[in-house]
Amino acid sequence: MTSRIQSINPATGAVVAEYPEHAADEVDAIVERARQRFESWRRTTFAERAQRMHRVSEILLERSEVWAELMAVEMGKPLREGRAELAKSAWVCRYYADGAEAMLADRDVPTEAQRSFVHNEPLGVVLAVMPWNFPFWQVIRFAAPTLMAGNTVVLKHASNVTGVALALEELFATAGFEPGCFSSLVIPGSRVAEAVEHPGVCAVTLTGSDAAGRSVAALAGSHLKKVVLELGGSDASIVLADADVPAAAAGCAVGRLVNGGQSCIGAKRFLVHDDVYDDWLDAFTDELANSVVGDPLDESTTLGPLARCDLRDELHDQVLRAMEAGAHLHLGGRLPDDSTTAFYGPTILTDVPIDSAAWTEELFGPVAAVVRVRSTDEAIELANRSSFGLGGAVYTGDVELGARIAADLVDAGTVFVNKPVASDPRLPFGGIKGSGFGRELGPEGIFEFVNVKSVSVA
Ligand code: NAP
Repeated sequence: MTSRIQSINPATGAVVAEYPEHAADEVDAIVERARQRFESWRRTTFAERAQRMHRVSEILLERSEVWAELMAVEMGKPLREGRAELAKSAWVCRYYADGAEAMLADRDVPTEAQRSFVHNEPLGVVLAVMPWNFPFWQVIRFAAPTLMAGNTVVLKHASNVTGVALALEELFATAGFEPGCFSSLVIPGSRVAEAVEHPGVCAVTLTGSDAAGRSVAALAGSHLKKVVLELGGSDASIVLADADVPAAAAGCAVGRLVNGGQSCIGAKRFLVHDDVYDDWLDAFTDELANSVVGDPLDESTTLGPLARCDLRDELHDQVLRAMEAGAHLHLGGRLPDDSTTAFYGPTILTDVPIDSAAWTEELFGPVAAVVRVRSTDEAIELANRSSFGLGGAVYTGDVELGARIAADLVDAGTVFVNKPVASDPRLPFGGIKGSGFGRELGPEGIFEFVNVKSVSVA
């Protein structure tokens, strides 16, 4: 009997849809079609690719309402955040449609030879294993540069957003990408190995958890296939003694609550100087407590449910374990009355011990771990005391000091000063340490899946 994958509305517990899994021979046929398509796609001009990619951008905006609703029912994203995600996805398509040719242009290098130059070629079929939290954006920010470079793409999306996976396939086909340029595999995480090992796949990118990253990287490594890993984060927002407290509290709240707290670069640990601690905590608490928790289809909702009930239970368990270790519950921390829904209200833990779950593990939901610090040095030292290194923030009245701390002293792939971290098509994005390796976005992102070839003519 064919196994099926379900989408469940986390705001109601209702089954949204069921999808038959692809059988092993279907996986094989999808990868093989992508491999064959690569041979013609790689020969297309940048102008031909750009024309289709601009069309993707337009369709994303045209279908914004329908797809914002699909995200709301599949993973609980409030409509306004869904529309913003689709608009940003359209932007990254335009960014690479317009910029890819210049980014990948041949580069002459003076040597003793008659001519030496660097030439960038696509690699082949790239497998993307993707998460549910930004179901359009995560896929498109990888697919736009990868397709513009001349590769073809096979997506294995998170099971709970299979509707989005199929919508993405339809999107690229409608925009004129030929069959095999962009395909979706409907398989669970337990079958990803089939795709990674497939001889037609030449490289893999995974955005997701530490466990999935380790497993895919080990397997891809054993087959000598290139891997990019965009994993979790537990980054710190540092609030220094000279910070503008209301602005810092507002920035920290936005950083913590973005996407219902389910963002890899979301602010998770807050290191606040003693001089401003009480004022900052009052303002931050007000910001979080003012969230409008509710149905993501309701326009007034600012905080929807978490994406799945098991994720809500996992988050609550982290809160309980942190409290057992000595953290103080300052706000929230309660499960919903109706256990078939995945709601979890904004929660603040203070005096968080640095060996507790709220510090050492990623809190993937609207739970803030707050610690009082007595100096800038202590804040930086504690910020770096983490196995992750993705996106941190520094709030200070001295922007030069902030920039120096950001550039030289905080261990992370991205550090923002006086604003919450956000991805931007123009800026490279990725992590260090347990947050993974490789970069997406910016010119750097398009180089992950190209063969940087040196040519020298005697
Ligand atoms: P996840 O459970 O790791 O799932 C991510 C993807 O990997 C899904 O497609 C999943 O498929 C698949 N998968 C799960 N276990 C696997 C395994 N053992 N082997 C191969 N594939 C496996 O992560 P998630 O819960 O969807 O996403 C949340 C995580 O992603 C967080 O840690 C977050 O920080 C991270 N994230 C990182 C970034 C970044 O750019 N650094 C961006 C967004 C999210 P199934 O759904 O079928 O299990």
